[in-house]
Amino acid sequence: MEDNTTVLIVEDDKYIMSLITMYLKDEGYKTLAATTGKEAISLFYANNPDIILLDLGLPDIDGMEVVMQIREKSNNPIIVVSAREEESEKIRILDLGADDYMTKPFHIGELLARIRVAQRKLNSMVSPSNTEIFNCDYLTVDFDKGLVFVDDTEVHLTPMEYKLLRLLIANRGKVLTHNYILKQIWGYGETGDAKSLRVFMASLRRKIERDTANPRFILTQVGIGYRFVEK
Ligand code: CA
Repeated sequence: MEDNTTVLIVEDDKYIMSLITMYLKDEGYKTLAATTGKEAISLFYANNPDIILLDLGLPDIDGMEVVMQIREKSNNPIIVVSAREEESEKIRILDLGADDYMTKPFHIGELLARIRVAQRKLNSMVSPSNTEIFNCDYLTVDFDKGLVFVDDTEVHLTPMEYKLLRLLIANRGKVLTHNYILKQIWGYGETGDAKSLRVFMASLRRKIERDTANPRFILTQVGIGYRFVEK
């Protein structure tokens, strides 16, 4: 059914690896298997998988390092799977650009659901509406190349800021609620963290707005969410 979507599974536990591989193949996904971080990175470069399912605790390099290296090249969805449960680590890995986080042990049904969410994100990333150049006043976004310019000067956004901007622009003119944004960007809603969203939004504004006190592009709808101006 999910033709040709390739999932790179990074997992050093052979039992979990074969279990996940079996279920994903059952659902029609193509799979690639890496048992170390270095192998994951080289398979990523060689095969450009669509979705990365990443165990944080690997025998060689830390999973965080794998996220950083992949994010230098790609915005493809990364779902982190980990036995660690510290909240600060979860936030850090999401800040680094991972899309989602699951704690072991998990149900295979939940894993498959999260992969479907990642797939929708992937589809919206490659949809024609995103392969264009957006321009509004002094802001230009080249979605094809993933570049952002303010007053013709390139500004560097983190993967998360770029995702936020892309989501806002794709829905320009519409008010997006906090929960909707959390769900689209991180893959979950009600339980999401509106405070960290505010932090990301503030840093995005500092990068693209001339006057953050009077934003030209991203408007706050108090108590509801955000809206990107129509023009
Ligand atoms: Ca492990």
